[in-house]
This record gives sequence, C-alpha cells and structure tokens, in this order.
Amino acid sequence: MATWRLPLLRRTLLLSSPPPPLFFQFSSFSAPLKQPKFKPSLVQCSSLSMEESTSSTPIHSEIPKTGRNSSWRPMCLYYTHGKCTKMDDALHLEKFSHSCSLELGESVSGLKSLRAQEFDYFLVLDLEGKVEILEFPVLLFDAKTMDVVDMFHRFVRPTKMSEKRINEYIEGKYGGFGVDRVWHDTAIKFEEVIEHFESWLRKERDGHIKLWREEGDGHLNGAAFVTCGNWDLKTKIPQQCEVSGMKLPPYFMEWINLKDIYLNFYNKRAPGMLSMMRELGIPPLGSHHLGIDDSKNIARVLRHLLTDGALMQITAKRARGTPNTVRFLFQNRV
Ligand SMILES: [Zn+2]
Repeated sequence: MATWRLPLLRRTLLLSSPPPPLFFQFSSFSAPLKQPKFKPSLVQCSSLSMEESTSSTPIHSEIPKTGRNSSWRPMCLYYTHGKCTKMDDALHLEKFSHSCSLELGESVSGLKSLRAQEFDYFLVLDLEGKVEILEFPVLLFDAKTMDVVDMFHRFVRPTKMSEKRINEYIEGKYGGFGVDRVWHDTAIKFEEVIEHFESWLRKERDGHIKLWREEGDGHLNGAAFVTCGNWDLKTKIPQQCEVSGMKLPPYFMEWINLKDIYLNFYNKRAPGMLSMMRELGIPPLGSHHLGIDDSKNIARVLRHLLTDGALMQITAKRARGTPNTVRFLFQNRV
C-alpha cells in the first residue's frame, strides 16, 4: 500500500489518536498528559503445559516491593511450547514461572504520563540464531493494560545443518543456560513454526479482535511488531524464509525498532537492550540471549517508554513492489 495505513481497530487511552504521520518525516512529540498511576495486572497465558525443564539461570533477580510474586523465576519452557505435564506439581510450579505476565510492574518507576497509541497490541519479537533461526519468541503486549497477555514461543530446528553441527551449536548456545534438553525435546522446523504462529495470530482477542488481516492485505490488525534493532525483521526473517523455501509473509513487512523510538524520544543513544535498561534503571532478568527472556526484557523497556509518554510508530517498512528496500521513519537512527 502506497500511503500510510490506518489500523482498523484503535484503542483510545485518553484521547483520540492524532492523524498518522507521513513516513520519512520526523515526528514531533507533544507534551505528555497527566495520567493516573497504572496498576499492573497478572494474566495467565493460554498455553497448556509437561516435563521438568531445567530452565534458564537468572543473571539477576529482583524482589518487587509488593505483590504476590516475591521473586523472579525462569519460565517453564515446556509450558511455553504447550507441553508442561507438571501443572499439578507444587514444587515445579514454585520453581518455574507459568505466566506470561511481566509480573514486576511495580518496578516501573516512570509512571508520569501515557498517550494515545496507534496500536492496541505490540508483538515483541526477539529471534535467536546466527546461522539459522533457533528460537522464535513473541510476546503479546496489551497497550491498555501495559502487560503481556499472551505469548508464542517455539524453538526452531535448522534444516540445512548436520545433526552433529546442530548438537554442537545447541550445546554452545543453550547448554550454558541449561535449556539444551528442552530445545531438543521441542524444536521444530521454521515452516512449522510459522504455521503454528499463524494459528496463534488467528485467535480472537477480547472475544472479537483478530491480530491478522488474513483475508485482506495480510498485515497485522491494530498491532505491530516491536524489535530491538532492525536485524530480526530486516535481515534474519527474509534469510530464513529463503533457506526454508518460503515466501516472506506479509505481516513481516513493517516493524517498530525500539532503539530508534528510544533515541528519538529521550534524545539519547543506546546501542542495545542492556544499555537501554541500564539508562532507564530497569534490572535485566533471566538469561541474556535466551530469546524468551530477552523478549520480556524488551517488553519492560517498551512499558517504560509508554509510561513516559512515547508514541510507538512504525519505524521501518518495506517498499511495496521492491521488498528488499526498507524505508525508515527517522533520520536519526541507532
Ligand atoms: Zn511446567
């Protein structure tokens, strides 16, 4: 589509959204509005769950000041794959998290302002894997409740590598986190991951909202991908689609690079997720470079930006007809 696309479904937080900006123009940020302090909600994910997972080792832990969850726990990665069979095992439930919620909303300090957003939902994505994609985590962040309300998580099995190479690769990448076994137990081919992901996109939200205009232009509906950098959607997904002999799905044509939003909102350059978190005073949780944990940390940065009054706009989109050309919203980019 040549012109800026208005989402079909808008959710107004405080006031109606401003007109959409023209691409390639600097956007101006209006003065933030006063807003009552947001109360985080704990939402259970819809995945089903099975076996004991030796999940990730935390690099930091944080004790919230209040709340029922007294400490951070690693995710049950069987649960995220819908394969946990220990949902009635109290010890297991104590050891591993089975909730997609960010949980530690109390730790967000900057509850100064909120502004109307163009999107109802953000799909926080953080791929892992340099040669081929190994992990595909997506968190569904609700712009209204400011929490993660659902998630999609799959480990991805490379198809152009020998078994020996895969084993070495996974040992090196995930062995240190203690999640190599669950990777081997759950990983599926990228094509299957995309099939599962599309089924997940088809689910109705709030009883009627669908995240995907499958019958229309194939773009997301009232939702946008949020990534830390352009690599995930600009480079890696198209590369993997080529390796897997697939056409690039249309919902991957545009995204929000949180680092560009951060730079243009705070006028401060942060080259990565950890530096943004450091600058904002958000303690990183979980294992850095375990995609599901990084996604949660990126979602924490997203929540901080939203509560400070940043407007989430598409920062990069592929040109229609020449999908290899990516156009950027900001001149000032990380
Ligand atoms: Zn479990």
